[in-house]
Amino acid sequence: MEANSFLYYLGKPIDIKKVKLPGIKQLPHTNLLFGRFGKLGILIMPSGFIRTFSMEPSINIDEISGIAALKIQQIANELKKKFKLRIKPEEVALSKIKEELNLESLQKIIQARDIEVYRRFHLFLKLRLAVRELLGVFNSERVLSMVGLFLGRNIVKENKPKNIDKLFLEISKFFKNEKLGIVKFEKLSPTKFDAKIEGCIYAGLPPINEPYCELERTILRGAFEEFIKSPNIAVSEYECWGLGQTNCRFSITITTL
Ligand SMILES: [Zn+2]
Repeated sequence: MEANSFLYYLGKPIDIKKVKLPGIKQLPHTNLLFGRFGKLGILIMPSGFIRTFSMEPSINIDEISGIAALKIQQIANELKKKFKLRIKPEEVALSKIKEELNLESLQKIIQARDIEVYRRFHLFLKLRLAVRELLGVFNSERVLSMVGLFLGRNIVKENKPKNIDKLFLEISKFFKNEKLGIVKFEKLSPTKFDAKIEGCIYAGLPPINEPYCELERTILRGAFEEFIKSPNIAVSEYECWGLGQTNCRFSITITTL
């Protein structure tokens, strides 16, 4: 699968805690640095890799590759001074590669994160890719959905939340304990809610013009289904690392009560 991003390499790992660059900040619950410059997103990873990507799914990274190269050169120049790297910033800017999303690239990114998150999820991601290979994309997503629904329903069965705020709390606790990210809910109306996830397990992965978080989506779905005792729930992910954003957002709608 081809990603909508370019990858550059500084030649060695860097300590991102020491990096201070204008407009660039550490993303919550990750070891990643992120900056947004117009339509361009830049992600600096502790492994020394830098990714540039389009923040809008409709715009291909090729269309903004000129601005991306300029920005990379500036960043490489700053980091060269800071970490005494033996690189030529202009060469870093020219060394872009179009990313392929495969097991190796997935592991590289997950490795760059919290070691505990890495240990837990490298097996999950391997399984996910193996099931995909074995059953095909459609069926592997079905398997993942069933797992998500099961987990989501269990959150409600085990904790029996009495009202919607308690439901939000129990779901957030589950995500936090399972290291799936930090979830925040918002009530838009009695039947419409929004859930934002920061630092999800796919944080740092390149955009692929589709959302990554099918498991998370179905956990939310399962929990709400069980809570209202009805399958009339629609959950869709409209912001995701897979779409070029640096957090995930789900819209949850109770279609009929
Ligand atoms: Zn997502």
